[in-house]
Amino acid sequence: MADQDLFKKVLSHAKEYGFVFPSSEIYDGLSAVYDYGQQGVALKKNLREYWWKAMVQLNENIVGLDAAILMHPTTWKASGHVDAFNDPLIDNKDSKKRYRADVLVEDYVGKLDAKIDKEVQKAAKRFGDAFDKEQFLSTNPRVVGYKEKGDAILKRLGKSLENEDLADVKALIEELEIVCPLSGSKNWTEVKQFNLMFGTKLGASAESATELYLRPETAQGIFVNFLNVQKTGRMKLPFGIAQTGKAFRNEIVARQFIFRMREFEQMEMQFFIPPGTQKEWYAHWKETRLKWHHSLGLGADNYRFHDHEKLAHYADAACDIEFRFPFGFKELEGIHSRTDFDLGSHEKYSGKKLQYFDPERQENYVPYVLETSIGLDRLFLAVFSHALQDETLEDGSTRTVLRLPAVVAPTKVAVLPLVKKDGLPAIAKDIVNDLKWDMAVTYDEKDAVGRRYRRQDALGTPFCITVDHQTLEDQTVTLRHRDSMEQERLSIAEANSKLSKAIAFESWLK
Ligand code: ATP
Repeated sequence: MADQDLFKKVLSHAKEYGFVFPSSEIYDGLSAVYDYGQQGVALKKNLREYWWKAMVQLNENIVGLDAAILMHPTTWKASGHVDAFNDPLIDNKDSKKRYRADVLVEDYVGKLDAKIDKEVQKAAKRFGDAFDKEQFLSTNPRVVGYKEKGDAILKRLGKSLENEDLADVKALIEELEIVCPLSGSKNWTEVKQFNLMFGTKLGASAESATELYLRPETAQGIFVNFLNVQKTGRMKLPFGIAQTGKAFRNEIVARQFIFRMREFEQMEMQFFIPPGTQKEWYAHWKETRLKWHHSLGLGADNYRFHDHEKLAHYADAACDIEFRFPFGFKELEGIHSRTDFDLGSHEKYSGKKLQYFDPERQENYVPYVLETSIGLDRLFLAVFSHALQDETLEDGSTRTVLRLPAVVAPTKVAVLPLVKKDGLPAIAKDIVNDLKWDMAVTYDEKDAVGRRYRRQDALGTPFCITVDHQTLEDQTVTLRHRDSMEQERLSIAEANSKLSKAIAFESWLK
């Protein structure tokens, strides 16, 4: 499928099969806010669990936390969000459309990247087995030209944003002759800053109400609880605190479905370390997180690191793990070396010491922090869009299959009686009742069995167990595999143990 067609298909499939609905759809929806349906909620929960188990259950020195969404307003002064959580925005005077200025420039560079990809594909075809991609990338004059141009643009953008030189961001947009994707015009306003936090009020009367913000990230709930957890858990550095939960951002350009939402869920882990060790831990967490992504089996080629040119006010090193979404490589997870900025700043604003006594160094200090931060909804989109495939089968027919990793699939197995009589439904229901204690299982007796298989394929169910007349005689069933469509004849007990192994967290992550 072409990328654009795939993306359209992702949206319609997500809705048609109960994964994602527009929020409050009967009122025509709310821009960039989405609800997860009966299938989506299960996939999302399984992805969250896959992260949580890898982070918390498998690491002795990482513990969990569930902090409130509402926090004392000074938190956001200390974190820098009140003053610096801005996006540079620009309006097109003809279409009246608002854009993120940095995204316009990044999209321009994305087009250069796409040109490089095309050249690589062409050359790979031409040279066949003899093709050396690395060599081609570093020597082909056209490709090198695109790369140098893209790098220079991003460098200049990074510098201008860092220096708050918004006039130069506008100049860059003009020099690159970037047009409004809607009107095609170059009639731009100046670039302005726009704060992304949602405000709200706490308290009954207008006079006494306190201005609050909905948290724009989950990280600050971890920082303000650093001492609570460290003391009560008797934690020794290095240790981490992990948290999943909702975050809110009034995104200027909210598009691309659940890639950029105004209400979304983050899964963050803050790892507290002694000052001076941040370089090693940064390397460690980059590697660990990439491995975790690879374990889901979406293909190593679909991930890459992107180092930040412009570092946030708190960071001394930062990169993204990018994924090849249907609309190109985009950020999926951020890994940030946050220094002692956060704890140091909360110390200053709260007047409370947020320090650790290091028994080895025999001194008190404010720990440094390494952060891994991933959007659950973006992870959902990565897994879902990669899994969705249209296939032409040997007999010329087609099927839509959602090749979700079995470990996160909403339903692990569908149990189907071949026909609705002869005692087959009763046996199938017994199997369901037996399996449901260990895994998500569903029962279906409607329509011909072939159609039922197709429906489970489209829902991403990795296995089907079919009960037929032979089952009555010898207690065997067929186990059908979603991806290969192969069927094998097994005893019920054998089928159970095969299933358990195929969906076990351990089989995937180890
Ligand atoms: P972007 O550059 O795409 O706006 P960011 O750099 O602001 O993202 P972070 O603040 O590092 O993102 O947040 C960590 C993670 O949270 C991101 O990698 C992403 O997966 C997720 N995330 C951030 N903003 C959104 C959003 N509006 N909708 C969905 N997920 C988001």
